[in-house]
Amino acid sequence: MKEAISDIVWELGNQKDIISTDPDDLHAHGYSSWSTVNPDELPVAVAYPRNTEQVATIVRVCHRHRVPVVAYSGGTSLEGNFSAPYGGVSIDFAFMNNILQVNKADMDVVVQPSVGWQDLNTELAKQGTGLFFPVDPGPTAKIGGMIGTNCSGTNAVRYGTMKDWVINLTVVLSDGQVIKTRRRPRKSSAGYNLNSLFVGSEGTLGIVTEATLKLAVVPEETSVAVVNFPSIRHAASAAASVMQAAIPVQCLEIMDEVQMKVVNLSGFTAPRVWVEKPTLFFKFAGTKASVQEHIKLVEKITAANKGGNFEFAKDEKEQKLLWSARKESLWSMLALRKEGEDVWSTDVAVPFSRLADIIEVSKKEMDELGLFASILGHIGDGNFHESIMYNKENEAERAKVEACVKNMVRLAIEMEGTCTGEHGVGWGKKESLLWEVGSETVGVMAAIKKSLDPHWILNPGKIMDVPWERKDSHHDG
Ligand SMILES: Cc1cc2nc3c(=O)[nH]c(=O)nc-3n(C[C@H](O)[C@H](O)[C@H](O)COP(=O)(O)OP(=O)(O)OC[C@H]3O[C@@H](n4cnc5c(N)ncnc54)[C@H](O)[C@@H]3O)c2cc1C
Repeated sequence: MKEAISDIVWELGNQKDIISTDPDDLHAHGYSSWSTVNPDELPVAVAYPRNTEQVATIVRVCHRHRVPVVAYSGGTSLEGNFSAPYGGVSIDFAFMNNILQVNKADMDVVVQPSVGWQDLNTELAKQGTGLFFPVDPGPTAKIGGMIGTNCSGTNAVRYGTMKDWVINLTVVLSDGQVIKTRRRPRKSSAGYNLNSLFVGSEGTLGIVTEATLKLAVVPEETSVAVVNFPSIRHAASAAASVMQAAIPVQCLEIMDEVQMKVVNLSGFTAPRVWVEKPTLFFKFAGTKASVQEHIKLVEKITAANKGGNFEFAKDEKEQKLLWSARKESLWSMLALRKEGEDVWSTDVAVPFSRLADIIEVSKKEMDELGLFASILGHIGDGNFHESIMYNKENEAERAKVEACVKNMVRLAIEMEGTCTGEHGVGWGKKESLLWEVGSETVGVMAAIKKSLDPHWILNPGKIMDVPWERKDSHHDG
């Protein structure tokens, strides 16, 4: 690994600030306090390339020395996705943060991997384009990592997930070769859909250095409302009914009474204090008339499920505060930790008709732990999260929490759901992926991995075990 680092420095012309071996830097690129899992190893170096050619050089050198390469963008992923269990070089795109083109008439943009989705939207608003990028995961997530995890967020119920917004990618392959997946039209059926191969591959098949993304039109009118329910089952049933009635809400989120308490404690929306009961958050968007019509339809459904009255955010400022309280709920929960405590946050998704069942059972099992724990999520997509606060030093407590989380994942899979609606598999959910799709399907994934990365240098140990540690190594060909 040392030789690889000195070769990288040499081949990039001894430029300063390209490689760091500072211990704090290594720690920040191999460990995350909001991730459910963290392997013991750290990367041995962090590279800071300025362009695609430099990324290709770094990867070519690592390929020659058989050294792992792990891509890093915003560092907000939650399943140990950017960790470095086999050491190697972490590539941080911090200096590749430019918006390269805004094609207003074509409703698309070309960006580098370290452009944050919030910054992109701020710039699009500043330029008066009337357009925005609707995929909204963790507030500080960046395009490279968002492609890596095929993320989504609160807008997914209306706008879909990351895979729906990618037009073309520039990708550095495991041997340093650079390819583009497509050109710039919004649709194409030319050949294999390589976008779908790279989106969600968590940096295990190639490294994205540029992306062309679709944009959406900013709606004329937006309204945000919350409505509370006597039980989580009532809230989940109401959410499923809204979706089954095909009312095009922009967002439909759930928070249980514990999470509402966290919002109040965080003071995000002070002086406003919310009722601490299971609550649905709605965002309505469209023309003025359509928003009014959708609100009426949703009010009827929530009332039929014993929902209270709608409480509307009173102005745009309060809409923003309320929405950021929802978006930053994980951080609010983390802020409540005491010394030695951690938060286990995980996501699953099920078909709508099973939502109320799984949420009710999971909530009951979680409450039986006797710990501070909450349920929240993008319920309009059948996707929800459990966040459980526990003492990481206490082995028995950790084991109990892990068992509870695994139970929820098993239950979701039994209900024909998935072990992760949006966070990805990373280092933490490899076993769950096997439960979900079986070893034959993971075998197909391994065959694709092997053909694109025969030496297994790209983010090894993520999504599936490395071949030399896998027990059923018949996939290796
Ligand atoms: C408070 C909070 C709220 C969140 N809410 C949501 C949510 O609502 N929805 C949701 O989906 N997620 C959510 N997340 C998780 C997280 O924001 C997403 O997983 C996001 O997509 C990660 O982006 P990132 O830039 O931080 O990626 P990183 O953590 O840097 O990387 C993620 C993965 O992508 C790979 N990668 C990074 N850059 C590249 C690249 N250039 N080329 C190829 N691979 C690359 C990495 O190796 C890693 O495997 C939340 C996280 C937090 C902390």
